[in-house]
Amino acid sequence: MDKSLLNAGADPMGAAIYDYYLKGEADTLIVHSSMFEDDEIPTEDLFRSFDDMPELEKIALEEAQGRILDVGAGSGCHSIALQTMGKEAVAIDISPLSVEVMKRRGVDARNVNLYDESFTDKFDTILMLMNGTGIIGTLENMSAFFARIRQLLSPGGSLLIDSSDLRYLFEEEDGSLMIDLADDYYGLLDYQMEYKGVKGEPFDWLYVDFETLAFYAEENGFSAELIAEGEHYDYLAKLYVNI
Ligand code: SAH
Repeated sequence: MDKSLLNAGADPMGAAIYDYYLKGEADTLIVHSSMFEDDEIPTEDLFRSFDDMPELEKIALEEAQGRILDVGAGSGCHSIALQTMGKEAVAIDISPLSVEVMKRRGVDARNVNLYDESFTDKFDTILMLMNGTGIIGTLENMSAFFARIRQLLSPGGSLLIDSSDLRYLFEEEDGSLMIDLADDYYGLLDYQMEYKGVKGEPFDWLYVDFETLAFYAEENGFSAELIAEGEHYDYLAKLYVNI
């Protein structure tokens, strides 16, 4: 499990967030993947307000209670919305530039990797939003991921996490799936960000369907509940430790 932080010189998304915060606009933030054509992330989307958020994210923010950890918080949009709701949020991100922006926006933000065990705080709710399962990286990382979530949760606490099921990319017109079972799991992607000609390190990013997530949750002593489904194969799940 990678426990490192990004270097500010190779932090493309952080640089875009930093520019947008300072100037109200940013250059194009490009996402490369070996599986797809290049894509773009509109930087203003990373600064979305509560009203602009997808329904699943709004539900997650409303469900979140107690002391809340916003994992991979980016510009801090969810932490800020939580503060506005009178809730207590701590944000962590491996991007030093994003953390700098969050601090300036009044967020209690720390430049911490989720998997760094020297961060020993406890939380009633852990939020992982905007395809939060991405940070799990691969299916092989599931047990390390659940072990880490268990460490971070207060007794009775829960994890709220969203993802898309990428099955629609492989679905035939009759609904059957065109997936080669000998291949890797279909939701496993490799990404690399680029901003102003600077590329970050490539990283694994996992999209996982709810059944597969629930299977790994059970294997690791958690229960998974489907809280809500979005309009396009996306869902919000709540996971908690079995007693
Ligand atoms: N949640 C935000 C940002 C999503 S982008 C939003 O919804 O707008 C994913 C973020 O996760 C990036 O800012 C990235 O730097 C951060 N990240 C990736 N791996 C991480 C890890 N292991 N620990 C903490 N943050 C991580």
